[in-house]
Amino acid sequence: MTHQIELNGVNKYYGAYHALRNIDLRIERGAFVALVGPSGCGKSTLLRSLAGLERISSGDLLIGGERMNDVPPRKRDLAMVFQSYALYPHMTVEENLTYSLRVRGVKKAEAKKAAAEVAATTGLGDLMHRYPRELSGGQRQRVAMSRAIIRHPKAFLFDEPLSNLDASLRVHMRKEIRALHDRLGATSVYVTHDQIEAMTMADHVVVMRQGVIEQQGAPLDLYDRPVNKFVAGFIGSPAMNFIPAVVDADGRNLTLELEVPQRIPLSTARPAGEKLVVGLRPEHLTIVPDGEGLLQLQVGVVEMTGTNSYVETAGTPEVMILQAGRTIARPGDMISVTFSDVHLNLFSADTGFRI
Ligand code: ADP
Repeated sequence: MTHQIELNGVNKYYGAYHALRNIDLRIERGAFVALVGPSGCGKSTLLRSLAGLERISSGDLLIGGERMNDVPPRKRDLAMVFQSYALYPHMTVEENLTYSLRVRGVKKAEAKKAAAEVAATTGLGDLMHRYPRELSGGQRQRVAMSRAIIRHPKAFLFDEPLSNLDASLRVHMRKEIRALHDRLGATSVYVTHDQIEAMTMADHVVVMRQGVIEQQGAPLDLYDRPVNKFVAGFIGSPAMNFIPAVVDADGRNLTLELEVPQRIPLSTARPAGEKLVVGLRPEHLTIVPDGEGLLQLQVGVVEMTGTNSYVETAGTPEVMILQAGRTIARPGDMISVTFSDVHLNLFSADTGFRI
């Protein structure tokens, strides 16, 4: 099967600044792919390069098997959806929807029919004669999406489309966009800095940092087996705990450099004296009765939301423990904490790579 979108060794320079570094990415037809990473990592540059709004400096970009490097945006047959909606304020919803068809010479009646069909899919049927200012944020977002859908593009490109919306509407619109994607059998590329949004919406998540793809894969694969400390810390909320550690002289135990150093067994022997970083997710730590755990820690701060308890230890490094429901831990208490060996992540202290 031809990949819908394929990037091979793509680089992008802004002057001397290397914004995309040797990007290899294959996006299957029908996939929902999220590009995620901290601000400035190159997500928008990658999306804009797909759209043709930026010219790539080297490498190849293929859409539907055809090389697109030099093809202008309007001929790439992709539709971009922005957070700013970019609706025409002086046009009704219907006019906003039919405009792009009309400028391409589609007859009025035919354009109106197409608009009505799309509006029925996106739930805008009753709002066709309103102006953008008469719509809520979520409705405007739907108009923006409808305008993209009406063109039957090869793929939808979303650039942080929900960042203007309040928290509850965002959660609602995530589901709506994903459902629409499924219904249309679309191919979508979705940029967000919000890892929860990426994890919940996409089948394939691409984590970027400083112009490089650090890791890509199914959401839970990234969560379970992050390839390095960066991805481990970026995916998951609250973030993974990192504790510096050194392999003991016997090669079979590890000393964790906590406020009070503590020793845990290693399931596989490592070179004596090797410096590691232990990664443990807050939700994988369990408070157990005195002395029965692998670690003895002192409680610093306790926060309870009713749903969850966040127990943070005193001293450096701080360790966060996430417990469902309520906790009896109180600031100043010594607690015993355990975890399963499968949840122990080890990273090289030098390179940050997973071991
Ligand atoms: P993100 O979308 O991940 O926040 P961007 O793709 O917008 O990141 O930007 C990646 C990097 O490229 C940033 O350091 C940004 O400052 C730089 N950059 C983006 N656009 C330009 C431009 N037109 N000229 C120069 N530098 C740019």
